[in-house]
Amino acid sequence: MDKVATFEVDHTQLKPGVYVSRQDRVGNEIVTTFDVRVTAPYQEAPLSPEVLHTLEHLGAVYLRGKSPLAGQILYWGPMGCQTGFDLLVSGEVSVQKIVEVLHQTFLFVADFEGEIPGAQFAWQCGNYKLHDLQEAKQAAQQFADVLLNWREQDSMYPRRTN
Ligand SMILES: [Zn+2]
Repeated sequence: MDKVATFEVDHTQLKPGVYVSRQDRVGNEIVTTFDVRVTAPYQEAPLSPEVLHTLEHLGAVYLRGKSPLAGQILYWGPMGCQTGFDLLVSGEVSVQKIVEVLHQTFLFVADFEGEIPGAQFAWQCGNYKLHDLQEAKQAAQQFADVLLNWREQDSMYPRRTN
């Protein structure tokens, strides 16, 4: 069976930040998958399902509705390992630009007040009570601070060679 390329990334060496996971050509478009790693695997606690879910909803509100890349966001969703998110973007987008947009996204969450969109009624979501706004805001502020100092050269995955 073919190896899945991202399983060769050395996850024990990942720091919180943004990595270029892969680029695919789909028709005439380049689609980039960014690894938005919010916590360091094995070095920090993973995000709780509640926090992950709140970051998913509020992140989508900003990325899809308010960000300068709104029309190019193909997917924003949590990783099963609960340490971050996959972000798929169409078109040529630099690491610098995506980090800038994600910085704004996580500041938006950190400052968010009020009702979480899509979390009022059961028909809106598959688990509409699974949220923790206060913890999500704290995690978002911490990650926004990480992104302030994130550089393009940091966005290369650490790989295992053996
Ligand atoms: Zn939901």
